[in-house]
Amino acid sequence: MIGDTIAAISTPRGAGGIGIIRLSGPYGLPILKQVFRPKQKKQGADWQPTPRELILGWVCDSLGVVLDEALAVYMPAPHSYTREDVVEIQCHGGSRSLDNILQLVLSSGARLALPGEFTQRAFLNGGLDLTQAEAVIDLIEAKTAKEGKIAAQQLAGGLKDKIEAVSDGLLDIIAGIEGDIDYPDEGVDTLNRSQMTVDVEKAIKQLDILLAQREQGKIYKEGIRAVIVGRPNVGKSSLMNALLREERAIVTDIAGTTRDTIEESLNVKGIRLILTDTAGIREEEQADAVERIGIARSREALRSAQLILAVIDSAAGITPEDREILTQCRQTEGKTLLLCNKMDLITAAQMAFLREMVQDIYPEASVAFISTLTGDGCERLGDVIQEIFTTNCMTVPDDATIISARHQEIILRAKDYLRDSLDAITGGLPGDFIAVDLQGAWRKLGEITGKTAGQDIIDRVFSRFCLGK
Ligand code: GDP
Repeated sequence: MIGDTIAAISTPRGAGGIGIIRLSGPYGLPILKQVFRPKQKKQGADWQPTPRELILGWVCDSLGVVLDEALAVYMPAPHSYTREDVVEIQCHGGSRSLDNILQLVLSSGARLALPGEFTQRAFLNGGLDLTQAEAVIDLIEAKTAKEGKIAAQQLAGGLKDKIEAVSDGLLDIIAGIEGDIDYPDEGVDTLNRSQMTVDVEKAIKQLDILLAQREQGKIYKEGIRAVIVGRPNVGKSSLMNALLREERAIVTDIAGTTRDTIEESLNVKGIRLILTDTAGIREEEQADAVERIGIARSREALRSAQLILAVIDSAAGITPEDREILTQCRQTEGKTLLLCNKMDLITAAQMAFLREMVQDIYPEASVAFISTLTGDGCERLGDVIQEIFTTNCMTVPDDATIISARHQEIILRAKDYLRDSLDAITGGLPGDFIAVDLQGAWRKLGEITGKTAGQDIIDRVFSRFCLGK
């Protein structure tokens, strides 16, 4: 039982029509009654809110000074997000009113919530499982429509249901074995090993489907770390601008992990490209290309990139500097998309010749002809990138269940246990040996939903949350 009452501003900072202060815990209602005066005359000093009904009134401090006009709503446990008594005060947006009211509820007995604490309480009180809690943060952080849809699918229990189906199947097999151990028939193997094999193989297959979808879908869930490289004047900043124009959305400007790296997130046809080192592209570049690409920052960005957008000037052909840059690209783990820019300046025959030349120099690279000036080819870049990153050109449906790296790691471990159990089944080992492996797999899968997750796992999941959620 969580005894205290937490409070936080749940809407973003800055000017806005409304802002919401949320309270959760046993003192939510007493605090509301202390700070809020309903406008309706019939509501006397001992007024009682009707659950889940908005009440218009004044928020007043202890001296009766009005801080704001607001709507309040009381959602008694367990029919609330946290499964506790929840109160929301919807006041005017902007930091003044929100800060004043937050201070007031804190001085009236609430405690400032930690980041993610509302959702953590929802999890601890059984309102959400761990996959749904993760989906909440994924949804808040979603940068593209596709990411948002995938997160919403997980919030609706898509992954939870699939994991629980496998876990329940394992429990059935374990129950069968334990029944058999309790009533052993002397010297006779009464276990239905062939049925058990079928059941365990089915569980493995279900997990394999989830793993396969990760490969297909992780580009949507996590974005692609990309860099743009190329010698000066080939059109790198024009490409950046074209991509931005294409989607009319700079998604974010995020400070990079190191001080001198800037990350920028672009939405290219539903795929999030996380571009590093864009500052270098935008600045006037005086340095020689080979020298420039050699500097530590670019090399680091190149090394960690999943996608390298290598730009050349089609009209200039492939110069020695271009070759040097392509050699460096080839030495990395990332995939290279060679963008032959300024296609407006060359003929179809020249294009064919250039394509052959590129094939010779860098056969593994994907090639696309574009003109950032006329826009030709740019609108197809999202499709080209998607083709590079998805096998068999399969697109991921919006309602797909896509697992995270955390889920993937756990599923792989659970599969190890299941394979061990298959060995035990086919090797004729006694039932309790088989049950130990199956229980191992069941426990592992419980780390995904949170059923068997330790505090360290729970802390790691909730450390991603923002204040007020
Ligand atoms: P960066 O130094 O690689 O960032 O190159 P910029 O983007 O600054 O472009 C260099 C020059 O090439 C500018 O004068 C652009 O207008 C021009 N340019 C860029 N893309 C194209 C294109 O597709 N066609 C033509 N004709 N010119 C282009």
